[in-house]
Amino acid sequence: MIKIAIDGPGGAGKSTVAKAVAARLGIVYVDTGALYRTVGYYVKQAGVDPRDAEGVSALLPDIKIEVKYEDGTQKVYLNGKDLGDAIRTPEMSMYASAVSAIGSVRAFLLDTQRDIAKKNSVIMDGRDIGTVILPDAEVKIFMTASPECRAKRRYKELIAKGVDAKYEDVLAEMNERDKNDSTREIAPTMAAADAIFMDNSDMDFDENVEAVIAIVKEKTGK
Ligand code: C5P
Repeated sequence: MIKIAIDGPGGAGKSTVAKAVAARLGIVYVDTGALYRTVGYYVKQAGVDPRDAEGVSALLPDIKIEVKYEDGTQKVYLNGKDLGDAIRTPEMSMYASAVSAIGSVRAFLLDTQRDIAKKNSVIMDGRDIGTVILPDAEVKIFMTASPECRAKRRYKELIAKGVDAKYEDVLAEMNERDKNDSTREIAPTMAAADAIFMDNSDMDFDENVEAVIAIVKEKTGK
């Protein structure tokens, strides 16, 4: 069993790179952002302000989140329903960012994340994987890139999905989300003391995957 933690800000390419590394190594890719997005989705549906810690906490007993792997792809079920791409909109990014600053939400999602890593070899991406969720991970990488570079990637992703987006809006939202996520009191986006820092602004996708695989090999001999 192996645990690989990839943390870093949005748009750093964590998920696409981690997915490819998971396929190469035959291990499970866990996208933890999807869990916060799913809570955010429920909060929006309930008409509650995502910054209202008490209001959001009161909703948690009504939320059942299940993570399943179908053909190697992660599916997150909210009260029995797969939300698909509905959690991928810029609005849901902001909802996820707001609810993720609430301690009860982080506590609510903690065991779901740890349980997957107990049962499987994983590469898990998020903001606090190396610091809080899997502090004993054999490999920890903090992956980042310049804000412009990350916004450009996110913009391209949205356009490819057919979402009507403007680059300037994506950059502004990304900067706001970075600020929320890195300045919050609980589990801010942060590199673990033993994480390897990786700036992939000037790497293409294949180089980035190879760089991660090289670190995994060096750390684990696999
Ligand atoms: O990674 P993704 O952009 O899908 O994450 C959405 C939001 O969920 C982030 O902006 C962050 O606020 C929150 N998040 C978190 N901790 C994680 C993963 C995501 O707080 N481990």
